[in-house]
Amino acid sequence: MKQQKICIIGSGLTGLLTAAILSRLNVKIDLIAGSVNKKINNRTTAISQDNVNFLKKNKILSVDKKLFWPCSKMKLYTVSKTSKLNKIFEINEFESSKKKILYMTRNSQIIQNINDYIIRKKIVKIKKKKLNFKMITSGFLKSIKFNKDYQSKYNLLIFCTGKNSDLTKNIASSNNINHGYREVSITTILKHEFLNNNSAHQIFLDSGIMAFLPISNTETSVVWSVKKKVIEKYKNRRNFLIKKKIYLSATSFYKKIKFFSNLEINDLNLFISQNYYKDRILLFGDALHTVHPFAGQGFNMIIRDLEDLEKKLRNKINLGIDIGSNEILSEFSNEAKPRNFIYSMGLDILKKSFSIKNKPYQNIRNQTLSIISKNPYAKKFLFNLANNKFKF
Ligand SMILES: Cc1cc2nc3c(=O)[nH]c(=O)nc-3n(C[C@H](O)[C@H](O)[C@H](O)COP(=O)(O)OP(=O)(O)OC[C@H]3O[C@@H](n4cnc5c(N)ncnc54)[C@H](O)[C@@H]3O)c2cc1C
Repeated sequence: MKQQKICIIGSGLTGLLTAAILSRLNVKIDLIAGSVNKKINNRTTAISQDNVNFLKKNKILSVDKKLFWPCSKMKLYTVSKTSKLNKIFEINEFESSKKKILYMTRNSQIIQNINDYIIRKKIVKIKKKKLNFKMITSGFLKSIKFNKDYQSKYNLLIFCTGKNSDLTKNIASSNNINHGYREVSITTILKHEFLNNNSAHQIFLDSGIMAFLPISNTETSVVWSVKKKVIEKYKNRRNFLIKKKIYLSATSFYKKIKFFSNLEINDLNLFISQNYYKDRILLFGDALHTVHPFAGQGFNMIIRDLEDLEKKLRNKINLGIDIGSNEILSEFSNEAKPRNFIYSMGLDILKKSFSIKNKPYQNIRNQTLSIISKNPYAKKFLFNLANNKFKF
């Protein structure tokens, strides 16, 4: 059988990693990159130990402290009336079978590293400022016509085009779950005095959840998911007041704090696609499921999907089976869909439970977390859920 061809559309984290991982199979990969975002991205991503192991095994990225900063403790806090932090939960690596609680990576660096790998592997990367292409069904395969001089036929198209792309609309179902949280995420990076920076801190504020995630001994990434109405009240002093709030919370953990990057603000929503594929097109990444970032699970879910997809395609390619057929795509969808649905809904319920303002409820929630914090078995169970063990 002729070598099969895959076209990956979208060059965010998902598109790049999918191209890199699948290029290790006996297939030809083309990657359509779309317009390149020149804006410096200050975003960081927490990746679980098992997912870092998967990346290491595939030898796509050098797994060292420069790229993946290890984090061996995670602490959760509430704030008292006198603005004092009360620790309600703590987990460390000795309670998680000596696995790191998470690894932090900078999106810009990981993108640069995967791009280098893609160049080394000579994956065809088609960059277009304004992407204008047509999809045509040609015989059994799917053709993409970019312009007069470039046309190609593919067994499988993988749309890694994020949650808002027009391209996914013809695969979308009216049963998709799509609701806004009426919150935005505010991200930035702080510089501070040198410390042994290996603890992640998460504070439950009335306005939302503020996380401090270490990325080096002198830098910490901040992710604050905050109610839109709080930000709207700040009006034209918005950036000043956001920075003030972050600064005041950060002084509990760090000294000599400086804002190292600008604030980046994004809308937050929950999206779960009902359809995973149609007519040789597979949706992937945030185009399939987008979750609230408070638990740092969005990209981790995508890496788990990718691990499954790679295994499935490897077997089929070895057997000479057409990888874009409905049977293969439904096999992947039938396995990944229930897992992703339960995981996304579970995160949504957890997120909502942290937003309830009722005091008696909050007391029960905090006491429950304190009890769990003292129970090594319960903690190990929670760690395994976040790390990778939620697979069936
Ligand atoms: C504040 C925040 C913090 C987060 N923290 C974590 C974390 O700690 N851990 C974790 O696991 N996850 C985290 N996530 C989730 C994670 O960032 C996302 O799941 C991941 O970045 C999704 O990547 P993606 O490539 O699927 O989508 P996107 O990043 O949206 O990329 C889609 C790409 O497709 C391109 N595109 C769209 N349409 C077309 C087209 N027609 N042609 C060509 N290209 C097209 C776009 O230009 C873009 O480059 C976080 C998310 C947020 C918002």
